[in-house]
Amino acid sequence: MIRNSNKINKIRTFALSLVFIGIIIMYAGLYFRTHFIIMSLFMIIGFLATLASAGVYLWIGMISMKAVQVVCPNCNKVTKVLGRVDACMSCNQPLTLDQSLDGLEFDEKYNKKRAKK
Ligand SMILES: [Zn+2]
Repeated sequence: MIRNSNKINKIRTFALSLVFIGIIIMYAGLYFRTHFIIMSLFMIIGFLATLASAGVYLWIGMISMKAVQVVCPNCNKVTKVLGRVDACMSCNQPLTLDQSLDGLEFDEKYNKKRAKK
């Protein structure tokens, strides 16, 4: 089954976990204090992970500007729809911007512009 959750929320979770992974890697590097090269390697990888998460956050900022703001018919909260189908940020209600997909079962594949010929 396809996990039905909001895309922006998903990316945000990914960015957050990247920060934690980065911190954990840098912290692990402290165990190799006696091996300067290994420690620096851990530090660099950890630093890159946190740097990448900052990039992901920047990317979220850009795509959320492109996302369409709608009021969810299920919970009446304002949410952002990315692509043709997406889920509500607060209640995970599947939402679509495409009238032709209205009433159909939620499927991530509708986001792909062209299905296989
Ligand atoms: Zn909702």
